[in-house]
Amino acid sequence: MTMIEVRGLRKTYGKVVAVDGIDLDVAEGEILGILGPNGSGKTTTVECIAGLRTPDAGTVRVAGLDPARDRTGITPVLGVQLQQAGLQAKLTVREALGLYASFYPNPVNGVSLAGRLGLGDKLDARYGKLSGGQQQRLAIALALIGRPRIALLDELTTGLDPRSRRAVWGLIEEARNNGITIVLVTHFMDEARHLCDRVALIDRGQITALDTPDGLIGSTTAPTMMSFAAPDGLDVSLLADLAGVTSARRRDGGRVELSLDDDAVLDVLAWLTAQGVRPERLRIVDSTLDDAFLDLTDHAPERDLEVPS
Ligand code: ADP
Ligand code: MG
Repeated sequence: MTMIEVRGLRKTYGKVVAVDGIDLDVAEGEILGILGPNGSGKTTTVECIAGLRTPDAGTVRVAGLDPARDRTGITPVLGVQLQQAGLQAKLTVREALGLYASFYPNPVNGVSLAGRLGLGDKLDARYGKLSGGQQQRLAIALALIGRPRIALLDELTTGLDPRSRRAVWGLIEEARNNGITIVLVTHFMDEARHLCDRVALIDRGQITALDTPDGLIGSTTAPTMMSFAAPDGLDVSLLADLAGVTSARRRDGGRVELSLDDDAVLDVLAWLTAQGVRPERLRIVDSTLDDAFLDLTDHAPERDLEVPS
C-alpha cells in the first residue's frame, strides 16, 4: 500500500523555485531517505508532505488524505520533526512530551522515550535552555511519541554526537519493526545506508536519482581503491596493464596503490599469486554513497543562500 503519494509537486518562494516537479511514492513500512545539497528543496518537500506548506502545483496524499486540508484527519497519523521545531522557549521537556502525547490516541511513555534519547535529566528544563542537540533529540521524541503511522524527520541526526546518533538509529529501527513509514532527510551516507530502503537524491528541486543505497553506489563511476605492501622487485607498471586497472603506482612508503573496477580485484589477486607475490596488509576500499552523491550532484553546492524560515 502506498502511504505517501506525491505528484508533480511544485513550490516557489517569490522567484526561487524550491521544488520543481517532484513525483514520489513511499510504500507502507518503507524508510525513504532524502539526500541532496543545501538549498535543493528537501525541507520544502517534507513541509509539503506534512501539509505545512501549500504546493503551487501538484498533489500530495498522505494515508489517502490531503495533508494541507485535512488537518484533523492527518494529525493522529503523522509525526513530524522539523529543522525548526518552533516550540515555545518556556515549555519544559516534560510539558512538551505531555502536550504532543495528547494529540495521539495511543502514545508511548514520554519519560522513557526521553530517557532513551539521553534527556532523562532534562525533563524539567525549559526548551529555550536546551543545547541545539538536546532540542533536536526532543524534536525526534515528539515526532515518535504518538506511534504515528508515518514519520517525517528533517535532518535526522545533524549536529548530534555519535552516541546520540546511535540512540536515534535504534529508535528508527524500532519504528521500522513496528511498520511505521518514514521519510528522513540526512546528509550522512552511513546513516542512509544503514537505515533506508531507498534513497531519493534531490538536486535543484528535482529528483535526480531514486534507488536502493546499494543501487546508487553501483551507479557511481568512482573506482575501487586497492593497496598492499609488496616486495620492491614487483614491477608495478605490469599491474597497470591488467584489464580493469585504471592506475597503479608505488607510494613513498613502498605500498602499491591501484585504482580499478570492482570486477578486476580478483584478477589482480590471481595475477599477483601467479607472480609468487603475496600482498601484505591488503586494503580494498569500495566506492561509497559519498562517491555516488558527488557523482550525481556534480556542480556548485548552492544556487542561492538558504533562507531560515
Ligand atoms: P534544503 O532543505 O534542501 O536545504 P529548502 O527546501 O530549505 O532546501 O530550500 C529550497 C530553496 O528555497 C532554497 O533556495 C531556499 O533558499 C528557498 N527557501 C526555503 N524556504 C524559504 C522561505 N521561507 N522563503 C523564501 N525562500 C525559501
Ligand atoms: Mg533543509
